[in-house]
Order: sequence, then structure tokens, then C-alpha cells
Amino acid sequence: MNAGILRVENAAKVYRVSAGMFRGGLDLHAVSDVSFRVGEGEVLGLVGESGCGKTTMAKLILGLEALTRGNIFLEGRSVRKMGHREIARRVQPIFQDPYASLNPRKSIGAIISLPLRALGMGNRGEWDEKVREIMNLVGLPPRLRHNYPNQLSGGQRQRVAVARALIMRPRIVLCDEPTSALDVSVQAQILNLLIDMREAMGVTYILISHDLAVVEHLATSVAVMYLGRIVESGPAAEIFRHPLHPYTQTLLASVLTPDPRKGLPKVSLDAEYPNPIRMPPGCSFHPRCPRAQEICRSQRPEAREDGGRRVACHFPGPA
Ligand code: SF4
Repeated sequence: MNAGILRVENAAKVYRVSAGMFRGGLDLHAVSDVSFRVGEGEVLGLVGESGCGKTTMAKLILGLEALTRGNIFLEGRSVRKMGHREIARRVQPIFQDPYASLNPRKSIGAIISLPLRALGMGNRGEWDEKVREIMNLVGLPPRLRHNYPNQLSGGQRQRVAVARALIMRPRIVLCDEPTSALDVSVQAQILNLLIDMREAMGVTYILISHDLAVVEHLATSVAVMYLGRIVESGPAAEIFRHPLHPYTQTLLASVLTPDPRKGLPKVSLDAEYPNPIRMPPGCSFHPRCPRAQEICRSQRPEAREDGGRRVACHFPGPA
């Protein structure tokens, strides 16, 4: 990962949750001490089981949640000193379900131009021009701008979501499960569209997905999250070829099945996913780890860097 259009430094998000009547509250550590950098034009895949903190991380980057500790820098500027509009100019999201994320009562043209209108960028004539331009770019006939979301196919709706995210030419697009609500036949088209847009506009992607096949297809670097922490990160090709953390190895075992789109495996992780309110001591993966030793139960492993790879494990190595 190079110098970084996005830099996350020791980011943490703690939610206070009720422990029941008269018993006060408990801390839920959704994201703990997360650090990474993403260089211009790169695609960072953030992977892990649901509840691992990747969606909270996305909300922190988008400014939809406030950091409890640490900091996030967009093009060198701290999000703590930026308003929502400033963040929105730099980062735009594409969400999982294109139907749910598009207002059914608005025309396609109004939906795509929304970021420009919300941020007061340009006038009506410029909005129309930019809508036409971006629709052409994402492969949508501009005549569809007068239609409504329910008149479009699932793939066309996700193209609308891509067009809306890109219309202001943001530096970063945060894709949260961008293809998981789509038919398999359409998924490849949207993935190829994202690749084309990266080449055409130099956009940087943060790709959040539980679908490792999608991440392998798109990502240049990968960060694997477990219970709010990054347990392994590095160049995508190396992580997919030689995972060093036992959790990454377990995740990737599903990719090696004949149907990699099965998602995360359930069979090889014996114990249940721990409750994030009651974190296991030491390495939080130890109740499920086939390689766990005594030290793992008491001492949390620090992330160690080696040749661009970072692994937080007392006993990293090939499976
Ligand atoms: Fe497994 Fe120990 Fe490494 Fe944690 S630190 S992943 S328990 S070997």
C-alpha cells in the first residue's frame, strides 16, 4: 500500500449497550485499534464474517459515525475536522441493495444528480449535462433518466447507484457488498463496470465483501477483520496465495471449494463467533483457532510487519 489517499490510524469505535434494567451499560468494541492505508487507484478489500466491524469501519470513513479514538485522514486531512459535505465530496458509497438504496419516487435523473444538488455544486443545466455524461459512462441509455427505479432491471439499478456515486468524481468510492443482491449473471457486469470506472476515472475503492471471489477479482490489497481488529493485511495476490493467519486460512478454504461463491465456511470454525461484548482474553480468535497455545489465551498478539504483510498472530505461517 503506498502513501495513502486514505489513512486510518488506530481507529476505534465503542458503543455503549444496555446490560439490562438496573445493571447499567456495557461496552461493545465494534472497531479496535484499526490502522491501514490505501493508495490512489488501489482497491482495498475489507473482509470478514458479519459482525467483524467492516460495516462500522465503512460508516467511520463516510463520517456517518464518530470515532471513539484514533483518526482517519482523507487526502491528508483529518475527518475529525471535516463536515459531512467535505467528506461527501471525497467519499461516496455504493450499497448492497440497489432497490433499497434508490428512492422509488424519484426519477433516475434526480437520483443520479442528488449528490450535486445536495452539495450545491453547479446549476440545473450542468446537472443535466453531468447526468447524461455519467449515464453514458456507466452504460445506461440517457433516455432512462426520466424513468423510475421500478422500471429498471437489478443490473441497471446498480449502474444507477454507481453513476450516483461517481457523478461528483469523488476520490474514493466505498462499495459495501456491491453485487451480493444481484443475480449471478449480472454480478460480473457490475464488477467489470467498477474495474472500467477505476481505469477511466482513477477512483480508489474500499470494497467491503464477504464474497471472497469478488474480493479476489477486484482487490489490489486485502485487510482481514476479526472481532473489530485487522488480523492480517497485505497485497491481495500474496494474501490469497499464502495466507499466514489461521483465520485468513480458514476463510480462504471456502474459495478452494468448487463453488467459491458459497461465502464463508461454517464447518471448519468449531466454536461460535464470540460475543463482541464479551471478548475472549488474549487473542480473540483463540476459542476457534486450531493452532492456539497457552500464550494465545492470555496475550493479545501485536501485528508484525514483514515485507508489506502485517499479521497479528503468535504463530503465523502456512496452513
Ligand atoms: Fe491462533 Fe494463537 Fe495465532 Fe491467535 S495468536 S490466531 S490463537 S495461533
